[in-house]
Amino acid sequence: MSTTTEAPAAAPSDFIREIVAEDLQSGKHTSVHTRFPPEPNGYLHIGHAKAICLGFSIAREFGGICNIRMDDTNPAKEEAEYVESIVADVKWLVNGWADDKIGLKPAGKTPEQHGNDFLQEPVTNGAAVDRVEPFFASDYFGAFYECAVRLVRAGKAYVDDMNPEQTDEFRRLGKDSPFRDRSVEENLDLLARMKAGEFPHGSRTLRAKIDMQAPNMWMRDPVLYRIKHGEHHHTGSAWSIYPMYDFAHCISDYIEGITHSLCTLEFEVHRPLYDWVLESLDFPRTLPRQIEFARLNIDYTVMSKRKLLQLVNDGLVSGWDDPRMPTISAMRRRGFTASAIRNFVLQLGVTKYPSLSEFTLLEHAVRDEFNRHAQRRFAVLRPIKVVITNYPEDQVEELNAINNPEDPDGGSRKLPFSRELYIESADFMETPPPKYFRLRPGGEVRLKYAYIIKCEEVVKDDAGNVVELRCTADLDSKTGGATSNRKVKGTVHWVSAGHAVNAEVRLYDRLFSVPEPDADGDFKAHLNPASLEIVQAKCERSLADANSNERYQFERLAYFALDPDSNPDALVFNRTITLKDTWAKEAKRS
Ligand code: ATP
Ligand code: MG
Repeated sequence: MSTTTEAPAAAPSDFIREIVAEDLQSGKHTSVHTRFPPEPNGYLHIGHAKAICLGFSIAREFGGICNIRMDDTNPAKEEAEYVESIVADVKWLVNGWADDKIGLKPAGKTPEQHGNDFLQEPVTNGAAVDRVEPFFASDYFGAFYECAVRLVRAGKAYVDDMNPEQTDEFRRLGKDSPFRDRSVEENLDLLARMKAGEFPHGSRTLRAKIDMQAPNMWMRDPVLYRIKHGEHHHTGSAWSIYPMYDFAHCISDYIEGITHSLCTLEFEVHRPLYDWVLESLDFPRTLPRQIEFARLNIDYTVMSKRKLLQLVNDGLVSGWDDPRMPTISAMRRRGFTASAIRNFVLQLGVTKYPSLSEFTLLEHAVRDEFNRHAQRRFAVLRPIKVVITNYPEDQVEELNAINNPEDPDGGSRKLPFSRELYIESADFMETPPPKYFRLRPGGEVRLKYAYIIKCEEVVKDDAGNVVELRCTADLDSKTGGATSNRKVKGTVHWVSAGHAVNAEVRLYDRLFSVPEPDADGDFKAHLNPASLEIVQAKCERSLADANSNERYQFERLAYFALDPDSNPDALVFNRTITLKDTWAKEAKRS
């Protein structure tokens, strides 16, 4: 199945694209360079997909490039596993769509070589690549330090001996630290010794010297560096001081030649500091510009990595890629395609106002694509045996079944029909309610592509459970037969018992049962108890050759994809999405 089809869309226009276009027109920038800067402290979620698609789509539209940069300046929280998963997810999401727009890390440069020459020349060479290679902010530790020294020399930063609580308190009160007026020489000496690891964890900081009475709290002499002893996933124990986000991020952007630094709204108040740091450093090249947009929030889920990590650690899901999670890797595993996710986030557009988007919209995007591309197959999730007593015991007919009615070139396959079959147990009722058009004792139903059958006898076990339906078929009712046009109200799918392949089928539903699970701060109390049901299904013969690139519509049931746990001897399918929006029906009913 093709994963690159895009719904035709008008060229998007929004406040970010207007700024970018203006900056090109005015000559402020001659090319466009964006970046996606995840902190490797968890797996990427659908909100990140929005940031990724925005960065890459702007690069695509303006002939520019988008870097992937690990914002890995905090040694405590970051892990190599996360770096790998992030790279895999970005690659999957933009593959075939924007893979020639990825900033390439220059080969062969060690962090030691990086030094401050990065401050002169952008590190990116902008070559087209067929693989994703992330940049690491930690590669710029040398350059950050060089910048800190420059600020100290310019009288724009000082070493402070106050502890974090005192610092917070003084900032709140707008009071100068007693260490604010240290001499440049003393500051340089202390900073060098902080770097050399002479002082204990958390005992000193480097602070910007801006304005302790600034109305914007972020401008009240913010901390630029703190002392931390510990292993860093990328730089080991080389450093004893680590830069704060507000110091490292803007310099990283500058180093990589980023022109437009797109981020979510919570960074709006940091923007004066972003600009202050860059302007204070007297850089020769044009400075990047930070632009904020509203983050993506979706109903029926939680999105922050911290909360997702709790779900994983508490064993409430099977892992970061549990198909019920809102992570990109979970959605991939569940069977969502990259193109459907891209279409969804791009279609939402960018705004300056926070809002809650409906998960249903993503499901629409997925259904729309699957309806056009998914292969139709027969599978029975909760089987009940049907024996057609007037059908010869050793006869097998190979019936023609259409792969996709939406696709004239989709072709057909052979579906074996025999005396013993399975149908869905929900397609039979002993005492059905009104308007039930499927099988009942003495009633008739059409088996799709095959015959009309009549239920003659219901066989039960000692406990009274229905175990078998003995039926007769109207043997003239098949396509081309004398009674082929005879109408009965119900048509059901079926699988030939002797030809069926077994499969474990995982029926996923929403992880939470309320639209805003964290509204009361207790999201774990709102888990949907029915978010996963596992059944042992009987599938038509051709599904033995199912492959993970295809999506399948099990007719009358839902869309499915193979799970990575699957193997040819033990098939495992995930329900990616139901055929209709069952939650909308529920909402109307209640
Ligand atoms: P979370 O709060 O979910 O843990 P984060 O913002 O801490 O996420 P980062 O790794 O720092 O995660 O984010 C990388 C980039 O993705 C940032 O530019 C951030 O603004 C953007 N981003 C994160 N969450 C969303 C979201 N829900 N919608 C759009 N962009 C997002
Ligand atoms: Mg963050």
